[in-house]
Amino acid sequence: MSKTFYIETFGCQMNAHDSEKVIGTLEHEGYTQVSDETEAGLILYNTCSIRDKAEQKVFHRLNEYKRMQGEGKKFAVIGCVAQQEGERIFDRAPYVSIVAGSASYRNLPTMLARLEAGESRITGLDDRQTDQTFDTEFTVRSNPHRGYITIIEGCDKFCAYCVVPYTRGKERSRTSASVLVEAGRMVEQGYTDIQLLGQNVNSWRDPSGKLSFAELLSAVGTIPGIKRVRFTTSHPRDFTRDIVEAIDSTPALCDHVHLPVQSGSSSVLRAMSREYTRDWYLERMSWIHAASRDISITSDMIVGFPGETDADFEETITLLGAVRYDAVFAFKFSPRPNTPAVHIADSIPDEVKTERLRILNDRQREIQREHYARHLGQTVEVMVESFNPARGQAVGRSTQNKTVNFTLADSMPMPTIGSYLPIRITRTMPNCLIGEAVAGSVSFQATRQPQPFVVLN
Ligand code: SAM
Ligand code: SF4
Repeated sequence: MSKTFYIETFGCQMNAHDSEKVIGTLEHEGYTQVSDETEAGLILYNTCSIRDKAEQKVFHRLNEYKRMQGEGKKFAVIGCVAQQEGERIFDRAPYVSIVAGSASYRNLPTMLARLEAGESRITGLDDRQTDQTFDTEFTVRSNPHRGYITIIEGCDKFCAYCVVPYTRGKERSRTSASVLVEAGRMVEQGYTDIQLLGQNVNSWRDPSGKLSFAELLSAVGTIPGIKRVRFTTSHPRDFTRDIVEAIDSTPALCDHVHLPVQSGSSSVLRAMSREYTRDWYLERMSWIHAASRDISITSDMIVGFPGETDADFEETITLLGAVRYDAVFAFKFSPRPNTPAVHIADSIPDEVKTERLRILNDRQREIQREHYARHLGQTVEVMVESFNPARGQAVGRSTQNKTVNFTLADSMPMPTIGSYLPIRITRTMPNCLIGEAVAGSVSFQATRQPQPFVVLN
């Protein structure tokens, strides 16, 4: 087998970053990444099973791989569908040699050695109760300016609809020292923007007992050379006030909190086993709204969870108005294997789910249209992400994670990707900001505009 590999990745940021670590591990084991699957000796497929008929899509893709088996290629299915379907993958796609869930990635070198020795049906499926995390110094990051660090793996929350605890295993945190060493190394490599990752990033508990999550944020944010620190995804149950205080007092912590609520109805939240109520969530919103910085809030929501009534759904809609999110990622409930919700009848017809999703997205778009207007006339600092010389336009990202499309005056030099520029906002859209680059250096620090108070019930 040629020691070349091709990797295909689906799913969340955690999966994208897992692939960066898998790539680094393979390269350390002497493999070379290729950008075309036809040139690869080993094809890896990093899968996601969070929604819809993920496993069907995986088997469909594996059928396409089947055509390449005669070329001496080997195949590895990794990630959440691998963990969920396990050895059934070998039964349906016997040309696959490795099936491994994310909790076993630290054993990849051994699995690769077995593959090279000619073994087939190699599994990494029994590690979900491990206390160990997948830390590697060989991570190959795809972006040279903004990079991820996973600080906590797995999940112990067991929400009724979610596969993650079954696919990614139990919750386990890295020590503050190892996170800070990795962040320091990234700064030496030129990174200025670091995103701390976890399924519930703020459930992180320092195994060495030294730092709280808020203290870790401040510690990463005060490493010289760091301009921006983000963290995602936060869980309301573990969202403490000192996180808001840390953002308020540490300039490099971004003005953005992604805090998924899932539903605005306390009875649906109870059925989902979220273990907080609407009021509990709104109290956390009031802390964020009271901060001195304009902290952007975003959320995930599920419509059509079994038993969700019109009145429950209406509570989700009124919550949008109370919080005034800057973005909402809304999904129709889809029953997932092994989860408690799969045993409750999926009682909401698909047409109703589709209609609720439309109403939610329409209402949220109206809110964003109004709410983004607060940036008109402001000067926001962006990290430059791309440049389109033909249109004379560039794209950057603000500390609030908003996309900013901007133009440069003729006299201005072309900005380098990864640099930071002050942009004056001249127009606002529901999903992005439009502006022009301002000459001179940035001294901009966003301050809050007056906002209506959150209604607490
Ligand atoms: N840990 C985060 C939390 O608790 O908010 C969320 C992580 S989950 C990987 C990402 C999002 O997928 C969830 O916030 C939820 O909105 C959505 N999701 C998860 N399971 C789902 C399901 N069965 N049907 C629809 N959406 C789902
Ligand atoms: Fe899934 Fe709930 Fe864990 Fe988030 S907290 S990953 S939604 S089980």
